[in-house]
Amino acid sequence: MAEGTLTFSPDDRYNAFLRTVSPARYGEGRLSGVPVAVKDNISTAGIETTCGSRILSGYVPPYDATVITLLKKAGAAIVGKTNMDEFGMGSTTENSAFGPTKNPRDETRVPGGSSGGSAAAVAAGLVPLALGTDTGGSIRCPAAFCGIVGLKPTYGRVSRYGLVAYANSLEQIGPMAADVAHVSLLMSVIAGHDPKDSTSLDAPYAHTPSPDIRGTRIGVPEEFFGEGVDPRVASVVWDAISLLERKGAEIVTCRMPSMAYALAAYYVTCMSEASSNLARYDGVRYGPPADVRKPWHEAFQERRREGFGLEVRRRIMIGTFSLSSGYYGKYYAKAQAARQNVRKDFRRLFAEVDVIAGPTMPTVAFRFGEKSDPLSMYLSDILTVPANLAGIPAISVPCGKVEGLPVGLQIMGRWLEDERVIDVAYAYEQGANP
Ligand code: GLN
Repeated sequence: MAEGTLTFSPDDRYNAFLRTVSPARYGEGRLSGVPVAVKDNISTAGIETTCGSRILSGYVPPYDATVITLLKKAGAAIVGKTNMDEFGMGSTTENSAFGPTKNPRDETRVPGGSSGGSAAAVAAGLVPLALGTDTGGSIRCPAAFCGIVGLKPTYGRVSRYGLVAYANSLEQIGPMAADVAHVSLLMSVIAGHDPKDSTSLDAPYAHTPSPDIRGTRIGVPEEFFGEGVDPRVASVVWDAISLLERKGAEIVTCRMPSMAYALAAYYVTCMSEASSNLARYDGVRYGPPADVRKPWHEAFQERRREGFGLEVRRRIMIGTFSLSSGYYGKYYAKAQAARQNVRKDFRRLFAEVDVIAGPTMPTVAFRFGEKSDPLSMYLSDILTVPANLAGIPAISVPCGKVEGLPVGLQIMGRWLEDERVIDVAYAYEQGANP
């Protein structure tokens, strides 16, 4: 296998990268020598992986995540690890222990999150391809805010082996790029069955996007244009949907009543899972060590208090509470019932329509510090979490601007119909940029 070297030292004024890798070695394959940026919660052998957290600073994984092995096999040059909200908890990348990332479209604004570094690196032209992860919107939100394309694949279609878990029943690794064709290309490299991930499906992706969407039925739920959605964003997205209609799709307005509980179901579920997944950071096995001269519980508490940021501590506490014996029925169990209702709603809708469309985010990118209370931050995820609760594929494609800032069109599809979601996004992109 031929190998080359690549010098990668971008002018990273956006703080998109937590660290760059240079020179990179790369081989032959479909992505031979193509620079790829990787979110810092994906394990890279020999390269520090921190999840944007102090508690993992200095941690160098001894193995590669399966997606990294696949990228290397395809010849890609992994050039750096990108900034993110700590452990994926956030929608702005302001929750990184290593400082926020700036939005290359407007440096006074957040890039979205939690894969904000990956989105900014692509939007700034520092790399053509990046990997993000999406637990409740973390690929689609930054894609929308930075004006790029991002796909959350069907749950199980891309291996999670080597992804540092935040809320494993919800999250997927997925591709981010400037256009749909590149997202599709990266998807074809990372998708496929992996025996090392017990939730992995045997569904490889080998698709060439087609802009022919004649006869495709597109459902548009009223709830995606409800309270909290900026009317200017709604109007840009409706224009995009009209373009799809002109390309031969049929538009069907519909209802999704389960949206009333989707956000609460998502937050109870992700915090519960996080409280369990993050129990392993005890200052013994990862990151800077705890002070072992102290009684273990003190050392353990001290290490976690110092190592985790405010949002992570908040979520561990709420998640622990909702799983505790007295409150499990009231919170966790109810969230799972609400999650089933979201799935039922999608099943009912997908009997009538082929895809569902709406805005990715209710607004354009926020200014730094604008969402200072957790609830208003959480509310911004209302349109992205349903796809994670149901495990279905969803993409965000740029569809216009409001006051100069990008707006994302979100297309959700049936389980395992990532190809169709790609095609509708591609049809939009081709139609909008003839
Ligand atoms: N903003 C959501 C959260 O904070 C989604 C994050 C993600 O997808 N990783 O949980």
